[in-house]
Amino acid sequence: MSDSQWTLMIHGGAGMLTRATLTPAQSAGAREALGRALDAGGSVLAGGGGALDAVEAAVRVLEDDPHFNAGRGAVLSYDGAVSLDAAIMDGRDRRAGSVAGVSATRNPVSLARRVMTGSPHVMLSGAGADQFSLEHGLDQAGRDWFVTPERESQLAEMIADPDGWFDVAMKYGTVGAVARDAEGHVAAATSTGGVTGKRWGRIGDSPLIGAGTYADDRGCAVSATGSGEFFIRAGAGHEIAARMRLLGEDVATAARTVMADVAALGGAGGVIVVAPDASAIWDFTTPGMFRGRADSSGARTVAIFGDEG
Ligand code: ASP
Repeated sequence: MSDSQWTLMIHGGAGMLTRATLTPAQSAGAREALGRALDAGGSVLAGGGGALDAVEAAVRVLEDDPHFNAGRGAVLSYDGAVSLDAAIMDGRDRRAGSVAGVSATRNPVSLARRVMTGSPHVMLSGAGADQFSLEHGLDQAGRDWFVTPERESQLAEMIADPDGWFDVAMKYGTVGAVARDAEGHVAAATSTGGVTGKRWGRIGDSPLIGAGTYADDRGCAVSATGSGEFFIRAGAGHEIAARMRLLGEDVATAARTVMADVAALGGAGGVIVVAPDASAIWDFTTPGMFRGRADSSGARTVAIFGDEG
């Protein structure tokens, strides 16, 4: 269906985001970066580009921005290492690529896309994925690019108080994008450093196709953020798309039903969802979610707190 309508939604993580927990400088910086990500993805879509290119472009901007837990500014593992996860999926044919525990690619979302297009696999991890990245000529980056002083002090705080298991003050900052292009196709991408102080090679929902990332033209595209273990157990991304496809639910009903299930299991977080009919929604169980939306009508929203947008 080519009707020249497009819709882009992005997130920069959900969590304990309130006017009391974020400084004005933090929220202004995050809003500015969300705006740039909407511009990057939106200009792809406005120029007739596809949903897959748009979600990659939007996520790359957020990966490069230190306000979010992905790429530069990613949270650190228990041993102080950088360990990044990302995924991308094309709703046209459900081709997907993902990486887990990578440490040297500047934009993990682009590495995930290269896994999709340049290998017979869906998911690569650790040293092998870093090697694949080098062999395929992706932009490399070192610790000095990824690590910020704020993430180093959050790790120190977490180690001093290991009860803060999921994240320091629950400020998840994973990034993601979903888009519907002018041809009516959808795509999703998600990128993260996971949770502060993660150990033992822990991997969350973000790079798991069907959990934190999913796209299917017969249902919708989904990118999630929050306490990943619960999104994995709920099969959140696939479940939202399956409810739309099999039960005929609209985006809001499907997203809210699955987020209620995540909450019932004990999880918290949010999702962004867009369908081939251009309907779109964000839904979150936390006090706030860094988020943005733009579409072909010229409408554009950037918001953080629960009472906005
Ligand atoms: N969902 C991510 C994970 O569990 C964390 C986040 O959303 O910030 O790895």
